[in-house]
Amino acid sequence: MRYIDVPKYISIVKKWGHLGADINGLRSQQLEAAIAAAQNAYCPYSKFHVGAGLLTVFANVYGGCNVENVMYNGMSHAELTAITSAIVHEGSDMRIMQMVVWTPTPEPCPSCGGCRQLIREHAASDEVIVWAFCQDPTVPPTGMNVKELLPKSFGPDNIK
Ligand SMILES: [Zn+2]
Repeated sequence: MRYIDVPKYISIVKKWGHLGADINGLRSQQLEAAIAAAQNAYCPYSKFHVGAGLLTVFANVYGGCNVENVMYNGMSHAELTAITSAIVHEGSDMRIMQMVVWTPTPEPCPSCGGCRQLIREHAASDEVIVWAFCQDPTVPPTGMNVKELLPKSFGPDNIK
């Protein structure tokens, strides 16, 4: 993956107004965490670096990246490793307030179906938004909430 100068990238995103309301700099922290994580991704097979920045309801930010293996199964996506890290630190009640996903693509790349279900499982509400950023900081991110990502979804309430 081409090296990304994170402070420069974020300054351009801010200049274009793509960061929205950056309350207490938390959105910046999420984006920083996502890009830093993407640069650490272990993806020798797909060579597709993905980073996630997760904000919890306790205003903590956790990064995640994809981690592959030679067997091509049991691969971890960036959203999963961010959620796992957040649960390790905050416990099983951890709730997602917002997610940022960054990919080295010309346009924002949506989360896969499996990650949508994972986000839905741990989201604080159906209004939680997943923002997809791409390699070009001048391109506006795509934002979708849980209802849009996974309409009429299967969830924990369905098996009570
Ligand atoms: Zn995924």
